[in-house]
Amino acid sequence: MTHTADQGVLGGVLPASVRADFPILATRPGAYLDNAATTHKPRAVLDAITGYYTTANSNTGRGYHELGRLSTDVFEQARHDVQRALGAERPEEVVFTSGTTDAVNAVADGLGRRLLGPGSAVLVSGMEHNSNLLPWRRLAEETGAELLVAPVDGHGRVDVEKFTALLGPRVRLVAVSHVSNVLGTVNPVAELIAAAHRHGALVLVDGAQAVPHRTVDVRALDADFYCFSAHKVYGPMGTGVLYGRYDLLDGLRPARVGGGTVKGVSATEPVRYVPLPARLEAGTPNVAGAVGLAAALRYLDDLGRDAVRAHDEHLVRYAVRRLAELPGVRVVGSPEETPSGIVSLVVDGVHPYDVGAHLDGRDIAVRCGVHCASTFLDSLGLLGTVRLSFAVYNTEADVDAAVDALATARPGSW
Ligand code: PLP
Repeated sequence: MTHTADQGVLGGVLPASVRADFPILATRPGAYLDNAATTHKPRAVLDAITGYYTTANSNTGRGYHELGRLSTDVFEQARHDVQRALGAERPEEVVFTSGTTDAVNAVADGLGRRLLGPGSAVLVSGMEHNSNLLPWRRLAEETGAELLVAPVDGHGRVDVEKFTALLGPRVRLVAVSHVSNVLGTVNPVAELIAAAHRHGALVLVDGAQAVPHRTVDVRALDADFYCFSAHKVYGPMGTGVLYGRYDLLDGLRPARVGGGTVKGVSATEPVRYVPLPARLEAGTPNVAGAVGLAAALRYLDDLGRDAVRAHDEHLVRYAVRRLAELPGVRVVGSPEETPSGIVSLVVDGVHPYDVGAHLDGRDIAVRCGVHCASTFLDSLGLLGTVRLSFAVYNTEADVDAAVDALATARPGSW
């Protein structure tokens, strides 16, 4: 679909015609503002997945016939596309996983036990999603290492000074999110990575909430590992990416072993693994998922990454402005300072789940509760929040609908 400005704008930067790219929007009334949980999929992604299954479906890495070669080529092309999108040096530095959770676990399982032990430490931030907390917590428990937690400042970002003060020879690994899935605040990851490197620690960045909203350049960030999920960036569920510096991935013990990872196995000889990336992708890969992800990234490129970011920023600032009109509604953190598609709020005297039910009754989909980050919510002294999260197809009218509904979400109002 070609998008032109004279078709009107979405109340942001992107043209209104973007909405027609998402077939599900025509089937549902109301506003979908739960994009940080998962985004809808544009026709370009749906067509790419169907196209793969109708023209190329076959197992990969087995070049005995034409379809097998075609499927392998398509899969490897998707890897190149992700490499280019992330600014990675080599395609082998892109490992397909089932999502961010799987990618973090692959690093924790594959590297953690070599790096950590009694007397050492892993440092996470106080805002981490359980998927970037529990793998490290379990690893610390199993290895005798300490789990250190860097506090979050009043704006909802990792406090750089306190983070840096925790670094030292004991800290071998740092795991930190690029963008908070709770508050939408953006961490100064380049600064955190540089500080960690000065102290000799490796850094894994959870980019699940960053890739949908901004261009990520893993080399400019100097990230050692960077993870994200396709389904949060307009791609399919069940696919994700683990980027890692080649030498680090090469040293990773495969968390899963099986078909496609070995040169040969005999009863007596040591197992000889194939090179990256196949060594870390045991079993039949999700080729359609990779193809769908590549199509999603192309879709964002076609819209224009700067326009996508400007649109997200506009909606966050617009929402914060409109929410300020509502007495008893408080935005948590300062999402307008580094906007990234998320605004979290609380309504005085009303439980977030009740607010969610009130909005659902008006066809407005949001996420409520602790957002898989209960330790962060505890530290904020909150039971939970109501999270509005935006995508390229959201409009000022969606925000207005949410604000109107919130205006009547009062204790005893339903
Ligand atoms: N990290 C962050 C910041 C997230 O927001 C999420 C999902 O909400 C995850 C990790 C886990 O992603 P997935 O469930 O796709 O593995």
